[in-house]
Amino acid sequence: MANDKIFVTKPSLPEFEEYINEIKYIWESNILTNFGDIHNKLLEQLKKYLSVPNVSLFTNGHIALTSALKALGKKGEVITTPFTFVSTTLAIVDAGLTPVFCDIDPENYTIDVNMIESLITSDTVAILPVHVYGNICNVSRIEEIAKKYDLKVIYDAAHCFGIEHEGKAIGCYGDISMFSFHATKVFNTIEGGALVYRDENLSSVLKKITNFGLDTGYNASYIGTNGKMNEFQAAMGICNLKKVDENIQARKYVYKKYMELLSDVKGIVLPKIKEATKGNYSYFPIQVDKASYGISKNKLMELLNSNGIYPREYFYPLINEFDAYKGFGTVKDTPIAKQISERILCLPMYSSLTDKDIERICTIIVESNKGSEI
Ligand SMILES: *Cc1c(COP(=O)(O)O)cnc(C)c1O
Repeated sequence: MANDKIFVTKPSLPEFEEYINEIKYIWESNILTNFGDIHNKLLEQLKKYLSVPNVSLFTNGHIALTSALKALGKKGEVITTPFTFVSTTLAIVDAGLTPVFCDIDPENYTIDVNMIESLITSDTVAILPVHVYGNICNVSRIEEIAKKYDLKVIYDAAHCFGIEHEGKAIGCYGDISMFSFHATKVFNTIEGGALVYRDENLSSVLKKITNFGLDTGYNASYIGTNGKMNEFQAAMGICNLKKVDENIQARKYVYKKYMELLSDVKGIVLPKIKEATKGNYSYFPIQVDKASYGISKNKLMELLNSNGIYPREYFYPLINEFDAYKGFGTVKDTPIAKQISERILCLPMYSSLTDKDIERICTIIVESNKGSEI
């Protein structure tokens, strides 16, 4: 039906019976949370799927990121970007650190590696770049800078489930990477998240941090949090993991279809994926360049909305434009991020989007500016 609403995403759910089957065990074990058997089973499966030696699971991605920063055990500044979800900056502040905003690359929207060094001070303790939309940061340059200045690198890889870069799993870069398993992400555990990391000693530290900072002798040795993934979440993960590759293939089809139908629209800037990367097609961000497209992003959004299509302006406004974070630097310092955020629009992207849906969306984008060109 032409009037069916199309939202930016649609969560993946397993068959009802499959989930029921997976959670039955909870009524035998009587363990609902606190590192239970289902939690441990998912943990092992994810080590394999993500090709990383060390994984810790969390109740959500945000707590995972905050815990990673707490595990540093340091005070000082963290260099990050404002073109992200508010969670990235909130995690820094929650962990008692200070965010310093770096501008982004105009091509793939990740941290501008040529600007990082100019922001490093004697207080800098870490770099927290975001692989935004699954676009990979310049990981080799970031590693060089981190080595030179003895800084930790923690990636916000919330958008990166299953991605490979130059033949390596994405979680192998940096000291720690965070994945989000929120309902809206490529792989979900309802809510949930994970950290993957190089240093195996972090495992016991993170376990304490997720459990109020308590250690076995009932001493709180860290300022922790309550971040445990429960058994119902883990069961959802076990079910969804079985389908995730199929899901990514279906997203790839949607991605290609968009690329094909929108390739010739003047003023619509399409995403660029590097050939060597195994992507997960989690988002389909376009830029609307009013000067050459003819109408503004807002006008295009209105037209899409009036046809029952709801794209999202990820990420507008920038984090350094939010009231709570204005004190950490101004948007004048990140002019490229500002420009991109004003033009960006994420089109609907999920595995069950049909050819008809995609054609309906693209027709509006192709036709909307007709008659308004100068
Ligand atoms: C989703 C997301 C998070 C937070 O993850 P939750 O699991 O929702 O807590 C952090 N950073 C980015 C970039 C995200 O998109």
